[in-house]
Amino acid sequence: MSARIIDGKTISADLRGKVTDAVHRLRRDRGIVPGLAVVLIGKNPASEVYVRNKSKAVTESGMHPFDQNLPETVSATELLDLISQLNADPRVNGILVQLPLPPQIDPNVIIAAIDPAKDVDGFHPLNVGRLGSGLPALVPCTPVGCIWLAKTVHASLAGLEAVVIGRSNIVGKPVAQLLLAENATVTIAHSKTRDLAEVCRRADLLVAAIGRPEFVRGHWIKPGATVIDVGINRVTVEGGKPRIVGDVAYTEAMHVAGAITPVPGGVGPMTIACLLLNTLRAACTQNGLPVPNF
Ligand code: NAP
Repeated sequence: MSARIIDGKTISADLRGKVTDAVHRLRRDRGIVPGLAVVLIGKNPASEVYVRNKSKAVTESGMHPFDQNLPETVSATELLDLISQLNADPRVNGILVQLPLPPQIDPNVIIAAIDPAKDVDGFHPLNVGRLGSGLPALVPCTPVGCIWLAKTVHASLAGLEAVVIGRSNIVGKPVAQLLLAENATVTIAHSKTRDLAEVCRRADLLVAAIGRPEFVRGHWIKPGATVIDVGINRVTVEGGKPRIVGDVAYTEAMHVAGAITPVPGGVGPMTIACLLLNTLRAACTQNGLPVPNF
């Protein structure tokens, strides 16, 4: 048996196309152009690549990018001043502060300063609470992407036994909340979970968000299960060449799973597509318009 590959590149391109069409209609019918401000501090090479890709995607979707680059030495006060300017700017519908931040700045203080209506990363405590309470919220992009991919396999997630490995605020916890909202039966596993392999074998839907290369083995997977691999791990293979692998031993899992996301090309491309979706949703809400549901 060989698992169906959940092609995140194609699925995200389709979603980006839908967002682009909706942005075009907003501009044509209402004169509204959604704007996203991405704030990058310092010169972290990985962050620079992410921010470049995000800005390119924003422009391609017909939205306005408001990129902000600040030096590594910026103070918390200066960053808070910039955020209050962006909060007040009606052209800016979404604000994203690229993490990690330099050590002199507490990310919790910065996230709490972002207007929750513009918090397209979904990290503000108000959005976290609204998600947990089942209220409309801006939800972190990667978890939204995971659910989107799972729904390309299962028309409904209701009643599925779902296991999420990882309990970070960025991925594990919001994925679990979204699965619960979809009426799945959810288990959250983490580094203190006993007999993780056995817990995983219960899962009809397994989400791995651990940050350990090929940690989930093929024999941990229930035959026919859907596997969503969030991990992005850089490893060096024979010959010293770098390679990106997920948290799941892909070749092993291919023989057991019913469907699986590859790494790269699975969850990764969905994250930017869902950032565009969140920015579009934020722009609609801020303008009193119905939120598009694709
Ligand atoms: P994180 O904050 O480091 O959280 C990792 C989670 O994995 C923690 O909850 C930890 O448990 C758990 N864990 C660690 N070792 C474990 C073990 N041996 N057994 C069971 N659980 C274990 O990482 P993250 O930010 O959630 O990211 C996870 C992965 O997703 C990383 O590879 C990251 O690069 C990737 N990622 C990808 C995207 C994307 O766009 N595709 C976006 C975000 C993140 P404890 O809580 O007990 O420590």
